[in-house]
Amino acid sequence: MLGLMQEWPLLCHKLIDHAALQHGDREIISRSIEGPIVRTNYGELRSRSLKVAQRLERDGFGLGDRIATLAWNTARHLEAWYGIMGIGAVYHTLNPRLFPEQILWIMNHAEDRAVFVDLTFLPLIEKVAGGVKSLKQVIVLTDKAHMPATSLPNAVAYEEWLGEADGDFAWKSFDENTAAGMCYTSGTTGDPKGVLYSHRSNVLHAMIACMPDAMGISSRDVVLPVVPMFHANAWGLGQSALMIGAKLVMPGGKMDGASIYELLDSEKVTFTAAVPTVWLMLLQHLEETGKKLPHLKKVVIGGSACPRAMTQKFQDNYGVEVIHAWGMTEMSPLGTLGTMKPVHDGLEGNARLDVQQKQGHAPFGVEMKVTDDNNVDRPWDGKTFGRLKVRGPAVARAYYGGAGKEQFDEEGWFDTGDVAHIDASGYMQITDRAKDVIKSGGEWISTIDIENLAVGHPDVAEAAVIGVAHPKWDERPLLVVVRKAGKEPSKDDILGYMNGKIAKWWMPDDVAFVAEIPHTATGKIQKTTLRQQFQDYRLPTA
Ligand code: AMP
Repeated sequence: MLGLMQEWPLLCHKLIDHAALQHGDREIISRSIEGPIVRTNYGELRSRSLKVAQRLERDGFGLGDRIATLAWNTARHLEAWYGIMGIGAVYHTLNPRLFPEQILWIMNHAEDRAVFVDLTFLPLIEKVAGGVKSLKQVIVLTDKAHMPATSLPNAVAYEEWLGEADGDFAWKSFDENTAAGMCYTSGTTGDPKGVLYSHRSNVLHAMIACMPDAMGISSRDVVLPVVPMFHANAWGLGQSALMIGAKLVMPGGKMDGASIYELLDSEKVTFTAAVPTVWLMLLQHLEETGKKLPHLKKVVIGGSACPRAMTQKFQDNYGVEVIHAWGMTEMSPLGTLGTMKPVHDGLEGNARLDVQQKQGHAPFGVEMKVTDDNNVDRPWDGKTFGRLKVRGPAVARAYYGGAGKEQFDEEGWFDTGDVAHIDASGYMQITDRAKDVIKSGGEWISTIDIENLAVGHPDVAEAAVIGVAHPKWDERPLLVVVRKAGKEPSKDDILGYMNGKIAKWWMPDDVAFVAEIPHTATGKIQKTTLRQQFQDYRLPTA
């Protein structure tokens, strides 16, 4: 027997309709690429998105077409997303931090038919556009007055292009499983892989994100997504903020400490999210200037492990609650969030930080487990680690074009490639990427734990641990350190600080000082490059 409830397909344009109806005058503030801060609201955002949809359709784009965006977080980028989705086309966020050859490869693989591009990235698109056969149009996200001269024959200024539509348009209707968005993983090894979100997965993910024990945002919040829309959908904030009608503050291209502080302060931001690198810059700015964060309540930190010292500073020095989160492009991206459960009531100081070091628990809609290499479940005891596998309505079931089949099994589990343990209260902790664990004498050493500890040293700016060949143990850890400007900590200073805080056999065999640690386009430490750099390194213990 079937239920007798209405068919109400979960389509993304329902988010913008809802935001405009229920929260029409709630503001969206952007630091524009041209410079000034510009203000709009959900009502206007919807009208302009309808114009984008109408204009795209008039230009011959429609259902299933991949339309790329190469842009910072701004209201214009957001209205491009909703306009694209509103005709059943697919927004495809490109990461400008990739090399031009990678962008070219990705655009050809996705067969992008048009691209919305910020002024900042026009030179980048000029380099690659000629090589993308499917590309018909380049829409530069600016007005006529700011439109630069360009070598591209098919480039138009967004405002002029949009001005030719009157907005008298209705969203198209289609199945909720229709593709809505696309994002390629950064691909530290092999070619990048395309993840294809559906309308249904985007809407469900937005609901999951808003839940109180997840991000817990509401219409009373002022949300600043510092995490870019091209990094896994700005962690869903471009959808969840609309679902609940939060005021949105979009940082444009400026992510330095002073610029982010200016927005936090002037717009009275209550909730923000980004990778640790961004928060390192903000905390430095605060320390240098003595400024405080009186409005900010919560900061979500993820994308790579949040150092303990960072959590402590935000909470103790600025009264801001840290939510450590883990996720992946393949998961839309939220996987776990480190909000506290009742079992942690009363925990303070180090005991609370111990829990917050973990990446958190899975909300409804994310199933997870850890297994050994033979797919046998491992116990949730907070120490036995194994391969982390997930499934849910906003988790990929395949990559676009069929790559990476071995990561998906018949029972619907996706192998994340992360190594983790889960404790009895359901808190997961990442101990490594499967390919980064150090295998010392048959035992696994987690590099992330050692890195977290090392960056707690007051003179260490950044640290990475890699396995280096060892004649007796196969591999031993080498700690690679970037010193803070003007500081000269020695190997003994750093190892002395770490001694006693981790198992003795996890202690690095040596410390190498470097000026810079290589990063991927999404801000993660690029261990493949680092391992190449140190492939001939001889440990003093070898
Ligand atoms: P991306 O798809 O670029 O967001 O990368 C996803 C990967 O980033 C995950 O599989 C993890 O390896 C890593 N990651 C994300 N969040 C965290 C976190 N909080 N701690 C440690 N690693 C993380």
